[in-house]
Amino acid sequence: MEKIKNYINGELVEPAGKTYIDNIDPSRGKVYSLIPDSDERDVLEATAAAKAAFKGWSNTPKETRSRILQKISFLIEENLESLAIAESIDNGKPLHLSRSVDIPRAAANFNFYATGILHYAAPAHSMEDTAINYTLRQPVGVAGCISPWNLPLYLFTWKIAPALASGCTVVAKPSEVTPMTAYLLSQLCIKAGLPKGVLNIVHGLGPKVGNAIVSHKDIPLISFTGGTKTGAHIASVAAPMFKKLSLELGGKNPNIIFADCDYDKMLSTTMLSSFANQGQICLCGSRIFVEKSIYEKFKNDFVEKTKKLSIGAPLQDGTKIGAVVSKSHMEKILSYVELAQQEGGKVLCGGKRKVLDGEFAEGYYIEPTIIEGLKYDCRTNQEEIFGPVVTIMPFEKEEEVLMMANSTIYGLASTVWTQDITKAHRVANEIHAGIVWINCWLLRDLRTPFGGVKSSGVGREGGFEAFDFFTEPKNICIKLK
Ligand code: NDP
Repeated sequence: MEKIKNYINGELVEPAGKTYIDNIDPSRGKVYSLIPDSDERDVLEATAAAKAAFKGWSNTPKETRSRILQKISFLIEENLESLAIAESIDNGKPLHLSRSVDIPRAAANFNFYATGILHYAAPAHSMEDTAINYTLRQPVGVAGCISPWNLPLYLFTWKIAPALASGCTVVAKPSEVTPMTAYLLSQLCIKAGLPKGVLNIVHGLGPKVGNAIVSHKDIPLISFTGGTKTGAHIASVAAPMFKKLSLELGGKNPNIIFADCDYDKMLSTTMLSSFANQGQICLCGSRIFVEKSIYEKFKNDFVEKTKKLSIGAPLQDGTKIGAVVSKSHMEKILSYVELAQQEGGKVLCGGKRKVLDGEFAEGYYIEPTIIEGLKYDCRTNQEEIFGPVVTIMPFEKEEEVLMMANSTIYGLASTVWTQDITKAHRVANEIHAGIVWINCWLLRDLRTPFGGVKSSGVGREGGFEAFDFFTEPKNICIKLK
């Protein structure tokens, strides 16, 4: 059985404790590889390597850094098919999604930041003939990057690429649930000639490896994407150490549908925003608010389309809904369907585990589920489920839907469907969210800052904001006379 290795100081190595954790293929519910069960010793070694490499890497001309990172981007593109297959097996997502979204985006992340750093500049301020002030942007040092399982390589590289481009060295931990593409990436980094120690990837459990990264005194910056509870814990450890922190956390995103929308476009996009990646995208719209005059029509059409979604093995052609990521996550999602019913909700379709035939019988499949009849403030509508489960609710007035949309602790993303341009801007202005999509979903220029408000996170990644995050400003004032 394949043993994944840590990537420390330029080499693929066993964990210090020589122990491994099972890596499960969620489409079959079977162990298919082994992950290092790393501990603090591995993090110490990785951090020492990153620290030693920092001076050389941060002083490497940005053109050279850029070339190496672009090479990694090309190698990801060259290996797109094998990476996509690995990601789908590791995560359970349909192969078409890994092929068209996850892996191309990982390549784009490297390319974007490799080229962006060449154009990143800091300001200078002249005090007429008295003084000149200028701001140096210097890489912070060793960056700790911790990512989740839902978009494994996409989110992992979204952190690593700007950190490396900025001149930081990195100690990173992918989710232990989906480690394979990060392992393959470490092989590509070696091939691309990334100097040793510049990127170090330590596999293992959050409370052991993640915690050791967050609490390490030589890691002054943490970039974390994951659940809100984990984010709160990380903040409690990192804040007293005055670390720079970026937290990209959970969401409970509203999808607001007005009667004057372009109905067909809205319906086909709502299918994606509800169930893409089995609903395991932090940006999925899990609460759907529909203007009363089209509620019944929407409900019937949405349920009919959802019932037709083909649930299947991730690598099988035509699969629209693959497996959710793990057994415990499947159980959590199903427990929310039960809760919804206890809270008075009616399951319009789905709601159950789907058992496939043959070798996939033990896989973690859930029927896409639509629930109606719930109050906006019940637990099902307030807590993040992170699965193929959405609720639908009618509304009559704009103020009413805004109140319901803004009623959760989260504020990550939102979608508004209307052809009335004034209403679209007015509603977008009032929604508490880091991003509002008007008549679209999951469309974004990488130059824009990304992140949520309220309990969905602090700090911003994406665009040049990421360079601001991975560098520290130093102001220099020179007197002219
Ligand atoms: P978790 O918070 O459970 O884990 C995220 C990462 O943190 C994993 O690598 C995990 O390791 C690690 N970790 C766990 N405990 C600790 C700890 N004590 N110290 C340091 N690191 C730790 O999130 P999930 O992996 O379950 O991901 C799903 C969540 O991520 C959802 O809430 C989703 O909304 C959110 N998310 C947010 C996004 C955003 O941009 N805002 C984007 C994508 C997802 P391990 O896997 O070993 O537990």
